[in-house]
Amino acid sequence: MSPAETLELAEFHGDGISSELSAAVHRVAESLPMDVVFHPVDLSLERRSSDAEGSYRDAEAAIRKFGVALKYPTITDLESPNKVLRERFDFSVIHRPVTSIPGVKTRFDGKVDLHIVRIAVGGTYEDAGRRIGTEAAVSVRVIERRPSFQAAKFAFNLAGKLGCGVTSASKYTIQRATDGLFEEVVEEVAEQYPDIPHNAELFDALLAKLVMGPEDFRIVVTPNEYGDFLSDTACGMIGSIGLGASASYSFDDDGRVTLAMFDPAGGTAPDIAGQGLCNPAAALWAFGMLLEHTGYRAIGAALNDAVRDAIGAGHTTGDLGGSLGTMAFTEAVCDAMSARLTGGGKAKL
Ligand code: ATP
Repeated sequence: MSPAETLELAEFHGDGISSELSAAVHRVAESLPMDVVFHPVDLSLERRSSDAEGSYRDAEAAIRKFGVALKYPTITDLESPNKVLRERFDFSVIHRPVTSIPGVKTRFDGKVDLHIVRIAVGGTYEDAGRRIGTEAAVSVRVIERRPSFQAAKFAFNLAGKLGCGVTSASKYTIQRATDGLFEEVVEEVAEQYPDIPHNAELFDALLAKLVMGPEDFRIVVTPNEYGDFLSDTACGMIGSIGLGASASYSFDDDGRVTLAMFDPAGGTAPDIAGQGLCNPAAALWAFGMLLEHTGYRAIGAALNDAVRDAIGAGHTTGDLGGSLGTMAFTEAVCDAMSARLTGGGKAKL
């Protein structure tokens, strides 16, 4: 299916550097060989303080109309907007690519090119637990078939696009009922994809193997909390916790994506907000993921690579040791992208 000529998307504005990230995304969108129409929704703390329900209702109407949303960082105050959106949109899977960034200092020289596909619900995160008297506490850990199926399906579909295998990771030898169910569902899905290799790893062993040989892993599908640990571990390996983007998905009964929201990993950076200093790389990667998801695969991939090209060529903002402001960096990305889209490779940088 070829994508429509005009891409329409919901754009969820937040707080702090949100408007500067949005300006960078719009600048890149203007330079693309396609039309992009943004439908803004105000999710700032100011709006939420006076009309929280109205702001979330607007967000829901917009994402249901256009199917996709780009979200910028929001302040967590009375409520966590991310949690509210996840529940309202029934997001059950998070996709977090973690890829080495040229020029960003790391503690080791292995190349990471990993896609973490994480169940976004359940695990140990739904139940804060309770005290039993003064000397003990207990919490319930939940694994459900439906989100396990959706995560596995997403992982294998992604593997088909990338031409690689899928690793599932959990503690199935110890958590036999819960992680046993997760692995059982992944195995059932794997049988539908006989050409895609699948192996199951114990999660602790996976971490060791990943640190020792990151090149051996491309897609890891895992329950909620393990995905959380794995994401930060992998980000530490590439030298940056804030430089990345993630996608949240909801699905129909056949495992097809119905709604998708893309957001940069970092926070609202109130200390530098409004000064034109923030690094828009993660927001641009989020936009690149959205483009790929909506069928503009070549353009999205070019944008993702162009951000890497710009950083690798030393065009960096202050957080990466450079001297460029948000917009100067964005211009460097636009140059790198037009070089890629016209087949000039990195020639212009
Ligand atoms: P929040 O409560 O929204 O998470 P925070 O300040 O506690 O805000 P971050 O927003 O992640 O947490 O910021 C942590 C540090 O990283 C700050 O010094 C901030 O300036 C910096 N930072 C975060 N995002 C960016 C960015 N996009 N560009 C440059 N620096 C950033």
